[in-house]
Amino acid sequence: MNARIESLPRAQYLADTHEVSNLSSELCDYNMFTGDAALCEAVRREGAQWAEAGLSEFGKLTGSADYLELGTLANKFQPEFDTHDRFGNRIDLVKFHPAYHQLMKTSIEHGLHASPWTTPGPGAHVARAARTYLHTQVEAGHGCPITMTFAALPSLRLQPELARIWEPKITARVYDPRNVPMEQKQGITIGMAMTEKQGGSDVRTNSTRAHPVGAVGPGEAYELVGHKYFVSAPMCDAFLVLAQAPGGLSCFLLPRWRPDGSKNPMQVLRLKKKMGNASNASSETELRGALAWMVGEEGRGVRTIIEMVSMTRFDCMIGSSAGMRMATSQALHHCAQRSAFGKVLDQQPLMQNVLADLALESEAAVTLTMRMARAMDHRADEHEELMVRLATAVGKYWICKRTPNHAYEAMECIGGSGVMEDSMMPRLFRESPVNAIWEGSGNVQCLDVLRALSKTPAVVDAFFAEVGLARGAHAALDRHVADLARDFRDLQDFEYRARDIVDRMALAMQASLLVRHAPGVVGDAFCRSRLEQLGHHNYGSLPRGVDVAAIIARATPQAGT
Ligand SMILES: Cc1cc2nc3c(=O)[nH]c(=O)nc-3n(C[C@H](O)[C@H](O)[C@H](O)COP(=O)(O)OP(=O)(O)OC[C@H]3O[C@@H](n4cnc5c(N)ncnc54)[C@H](O)[C@@H]3O)c2cc1C
Repeated sequence: MNARIESLPRAQYLADTHEVSNLSSELCDYNMFTGDAALCEAVRREGAQWAEAGLSEFGKLTGSADYLELGTLANKFQPEFDTHDRFGNRIDLVKFHPAYHQLMKTSIEHGLHASPWTTPGPGAHVARAARTYLHTQVEAGHGCPITMTFAALPSLRLQPELARIWEPKITARVYDPRNVPMEQKQGITIGMAMTEKQGGSDVRTNSTRAHPVGAVGPGEAYELVGHKYFVSAPMCDAFLVLAQAPGGLSCFLLPRWRPDGSKNPMQVLRLKKKMGNASNASSETELRGALAWMVGEEGRGVRTIIEMVSMTRFDCMIGSSAGMRMATSQALHHCAQRSAFGKVLDQQPLMQNVLADLALESEAAVTLTMRMARAMDHRADEHEELMVRLATAVGKYWICKRTPNHAYEAMECIGGSGVMEDSMMPRLFRESPVNAIWEGSGNVQCLDVLRALSKTPAVVDAFFAEVGLARGAHAALDRHVADLARDFRDLQDFEYRARDIVDRMALAMQASLLVRHAPGVVGDAFCRSRLEQLGHHNYGSLPRGVDVAAIIARATPQAGT
């Protein structure tokens, strides 16, 4: 019997069924900066040419296999929360995977949280936006505390004596995650707590009370009692918080630890159970007489914190543009290697139409984002300041809202493997709606655009001057802008029509930028597909005659570069 078995041929055919063929490889070990033509051109055009060498180094890091793995790990091993230590002491401690800490460390050491404040000047916001765009492609969740730390400073500076103490540590390039008083740290992070159960968009309904400890008014100490329904990154060292002072809704700086070294009673109840943004801890908290100092004028809390919010909105544009870029890169990389029906996918006309369309959307997003970064760098210029006021809301609304469907469509390009948890696509997909919802949801952005139009009418002229720079470059754009100008004259039902108006404003801005600055094939395809086919656009509906191969070649990341 044994002899008969031994004489059988070896089972080599069984092993042959496991031969891997026609599957793509991991997109890694590429330069995320130099391999992104639209980004490179935008950085140069918008004034940060001086940062190119550093960005190239950074792009090499963010595109490396080991570094991309940090993004996977930070989301796989999600933050864990303890209210108390084992001896019963209240600690409110969130523990993160080392990968999360490494992402935070890199961000802070490269100034993603502060560089335009410490070294302002032409291109400062542009360079920082480019770095943030690259880093977010690795991992988006850790960007929440980085953004809030970055965004807090303009609000905090409204209370100079507080800023003098806090600013040096906020802007320091030192990441120190320890749960200890800020006096013991060289570098700190800042969060934000506005949203309450009964109202997120409408913060005027905030019920948290601020009771003066002694003297009243800006810079003075209060004790806050209430709850906050969403507090992301509760391990931050301090938070900008809205609460009702006797003189109305006001902004406060609330530290995690009191100056006497005792724990400030901002108690985390639990972490939110989120569908995405998994590496970032978001919490529900109670303020039980937590010490805080008033920032800005009493009763002008929204006015004060809006300085922070407008910065976080800009970062939502960066974050969603980055998500689109990574989704596009993944789809292009896969389709360049995968064949079906005897032909590589990116050589098949219908797939070329889809891929080129995804690439157009992604390029339009980063182009508008970087244009707004330039506006941030030149706020002393009246036109640029008006653009910041108007176009941050337009861009935040439009780019963030375009992202979920883009992520899904890129996932579909990859087919079944795109749905698998061991690819990056589910993470990109689950992250994709978040930027649209926080920092002012879609309708709120549209209403903010209307507010700007009515309170600062000069934004209308600034907008038409900006898009008018492309007058005569494309007939579809000229018609689109003329229609928009006509609709602006009819203010009836403006609130009801706000989404339609803001959609078309965003398209006008993106088209105007692309026809002026991108290769002709890109600008033309964008105008023809977005402006002439308005209302029935699904990805993959580019009209006849578009040079899809050129658009795909431009957008495809080059592995090994
Ligand atoms: C992952 C995550 C983390 C977060 N982290 C923080 C944080 O750290 N700090 C913080 O303060 N908040 C945080 N938030 C809260 C977030 O900012 C709010 O969820 C957001 O502002 C919307 O508020 P809301 O959930 O109360 O919805 P609502 O305000 O109830 O809005 C619901 C819907 O109604 C729409 N709407 C509101 N008003 C109008 C109107 N007048 N006309 C038409 N439509 C309207 C909105 O656009 C939205 O679509 C976080 C949220 C998420 C998802």
